[in-house]
Amino acid sequence: MARNIGADGRTVYRAVITQTNRVGQQWTEREGPYSKLGAARARVTFWRNYWARHDGTAEGHVEQAHTVWAPVGEAADPIAAARAAGLREAADAIEAQLRAEGYTLDCVCESCTPCLLRDYPTMFRARADAIHPATEEQEQ
Ligand SMILES: [Zn+2]
Repeated sequence: MARNIGADGRTVYRAVITQTNRVGQQWTEREGPYSKLGAARARVTFWRNYWARHDGTAEGHVEQAHTVWAPVGEAADPIAAARAAGLREAADAIEAQLRAEGYTLDCVCESCTPCLLRDYPTMFRARADAIHPATEEQEQ
């Protein structure tokens, strides 16, 4: 079954688990990514309980990452999220400034300041979505 883990902009989680067996051998494994923090935490708990029953120990913690996907063979843009956020901030700032100056954004004259400027926030947001889709509600 397909799992939609880590769509662009989503935070994903992994469990980092250090296990020690009954003869003292120790190793660290990473499990994930998982879309939910609880799923990664559950893996730490699983291994802690497993080794409690098998004369060893396990300790671990959970890490998070911000996902940026790209086709295989193409470089991912590591600052895509920041670039998109900057464009969204600019869009919000333009609209806020127009409102602060007393303009409404629903004029239809096509020649006043808001009519000339109001397309830019829309363009910026569309560009931001093309670079890095808006972050969806995070699941915990
Ligand atoms: Zn106008």
